[in-house]
Amino acid sequence: MNGESCVYRRGGALLGMVRERPEEATANAVNRYALRPLAPEEYEVFSLDLCHNQVDRHHSRFPDEELERINELVVGRPLMERHDVGGSLPRGTFFQSRLHRDGERVSVRPDVYVLRTGENAGFILNIEGGVYRETSIGFAFRLPECSVCGRDIRRCEHVPGRTYEGETCHYLMREVVDVIEGSVVASGSQGTHFVAWDAGENVARGLDPAEAFALARRGWPAHPWTARGAGLWARE
Ligand SMILES: [Zn+2]
Repeated sequence: MNGESCVYRRGGALLGMVRERPEEATANAVNRYALRPLAPEEYEVFSLDLCHNQVDRHHSRFPDEELERINELVVGRPLMERHDVGGSLPRGTFFQSRLHRDGERVSVRPDVYVLRTGENAGFILNIEGGVYRETSIGFAFRLPECSVCGRDIRRCEHVPGRTYEGETCHYLMREVVDVIEGSVVASGSQGTHFVAWDAGENVARGLDPAEAFALARRGWPAHPWTARGAGLWARE
């Protein structure tokens, strides 16, 4: 089996895991990021689903065109643990990515290489052993579009998760501007969160969606969208 060493789905259940010995094309792709050519036994490769186009538990979803953009942006970005971009160094590098289609479901499925250092041994073993089951993406986007009225959901009256004439409101995450990182998170994580982000302070705090929208509409300074434009960090 080539290319799919470790695959996750929304909700975090492990779909499959097969150790892969890198073939030449994979090795060449990895070595684009290394300062010297790495021998295949020096690293491990995993595949994972990072995000998808289905409505998630926080009533948001990516349109397919944004997944295409994420698929391009994620290459070269770091693999982290628990989105800890402020306090720890990367565990790996996403070196290639593709869109995976399963019926209506489209996901971004990057490959990441992790060096087989002594320090990473436990990390790799936890993935291989199925303890680290969930993945999550840190990214920024500009426009949360209401599924009911098509406006910016910060400026309309609809609330994600409520039903309007038989339709449950959600919002589409449009205008993705960057992918910051992808993370492995421990089994049992709650998955997607809103996080208030201060670009200068790295201050992050999980927000319930309803709370986040209420704050955003009141213009509270710590609302998830900042004046910098791409201030919303969402996670999955
Ligand atoms: Zn609306």
